[in-house]
Amino acid sequence: MSSASLVWLRDDLRLADNPALRAAIDRNEPVVVLFILDEESPGFRPLGGAARWWLHYSLASLTERLKSVGASLVLRRGPAARVLHETVTDTDAGAVFWNRRYGGAERAVDAALKDALRAEGREVTSFAASLLHEPWTVRTGGGTHFSVFTPFWRACLALPAPRAPLPEPRAIDGVRRSPASDDLDDWKLLPTRPDWAEGLRETWEPGEPAARARLRSFLTEDLAAYDDARDVPSAGSTSMLSPRLRWGEISPHTVWQEAIAAEGAGGFLSELGWREFAWHTAYHRPDLATRNLRREFDAFPWPRMKPTHLSAWQRGETGIPFVDAGMRELWRTGFMHNRVRMVAASFLTKNLLIDWRHGEQWFWDTLVDADGANNPFNWQWVAGSGVDAAPYFRIFNPELQAKKFDPQGLYTTQWAPDTPRTPIVDLGETRKAALAAYDIVKRVR
Ligand code: FAD
Repeated sequence: MSSASLVWLRDDLRLADNPALRAAIDRNEPVVVLFILDEESPGFRPLGGAARWWLHYSLASLTERLKSVGASLVLRRGPAARVLHETVTDTDAGAVFWNRRYGGAERAVDAALKDALRAEGREVTSFAASLLHEPWTVRTGGGTHFSVFTPFWRACLALPAPRAPLPEPRAIDGVRRSPASDDLDDWKLLPTRPDWAEGLRETWEPGEPAARARLRSFLTEDLAAYDDARDVPSAGSTSMLSPRLRWGEISPHTVWQEAIAAEGAGGFLSELGWREFAWHTAYHRPDLATRNLRREFDAFPWPRMKPTHLSAWQRGETGIPFVDAGMRELWRTGFMHNRVRMVAASFLTKNLLIDWRHGEQWFWDTLVDADGANNPFNWQWVAGSGVDAAPYFRIFNPELQAKKFDPQGLYTTQWAPDTPRTPIVDLGETRKAALAAYDIVKRVR
């Protein structure tokens, strides 16, 4: 008996190199393509504002692409356990396909759904698509997971190479009567009052075709300078692929395959390695976004937070030009250069002595690439509480960082030409206070 095949897309908003979509097509039955906006399942983190903006346009682009090959995108909203089940019943799908996710709450939902659908006699198959290596396949000699990047990446490189990307489908046999779908506009993912997204619109074009074009232009125009210039925020020499990888508009396999064919891609590929490391860490430590990975940091004596300090940092009004430039770039474009992210995060956690979770939440709300693993992982890395983290006592001096990485002040002048002259805190005094606070952590170790 014929029955539809349902593909449930999540962090994989693409047609090319999409194993779940490919498997559904290969089953030779009409295909239903579903996306669920799930903000209700237990433990799910509501998307931040910039991520919602991105998601709107990425879904709009995907809808057009699917239409051009014969299928439509069904949009539904609510807890996935209920909504997927309803859609499967509505369409009488005999087989369900998805690409795996690795966050703790997401895995719990997916595992329960797999059991429930199989108990009804439906086929359910999941695939590896968002990471180069499955988290349980990269192990130390002792069989545990890695907590230091260099041996982790060495172990990844010793594994069989990531598979070749799958070709993009030319045609999809969509179901004749598509099930009811929400109207994307009704999800109200875009900001209206106020509409703060002008800078995002100027900077980005979400969607798979733009992601592919950006990979191509990065490899031909920027890769050669990457190793030398990746730390210089005014150079514009990094790939800007992070929001695309976050939403899966392009797969890491595609990036890997095309980059490895280019000369001198090792440094760039190891950054993809940090993404793997962050996600593998999140898989093994699902409380990454809420708890210190190094538990001795639970004893860190965070002083009572000064809300004026937090808001000065958020608004780019700290009086430290390099930090202010980064925070304003973030507010305007939904992006901040990696070097400046590190300096701004260090300033918040060490000079202002504000708990990393406050900074992580602000980035979560404002970054277009806000990522469930990369964001908390990197915050903990800077704060010193993470795995393979920067030692706490290495406190970035934002003025020296600016001299080194923005010597002509190009970046600072672009984003913060009018920063206040007086810093809200004294860098030397606050550095001493941070080190004194850290002494308490050292004692409980
Ligand atoms: P490239 O230099 O071109 O790197 C290629 C890809 O490698 C990136 O797209 C990204 O997927 C990955 N990558 C690069 N650096 C890192 C890193 N340090 N950790 C993990 N993956 C990395 N990245 C996110 O994708 N989402 C986040 O929410 C995020 N939050 C961060 C918060 C802080 C405090 C810091 C210090 C870093 C954070 N990063 C985050 C990592 C990094 O800053 C961005 O991935 C990078 O700036 C994106 O620019 P790009 O795509 O041009 O990077």
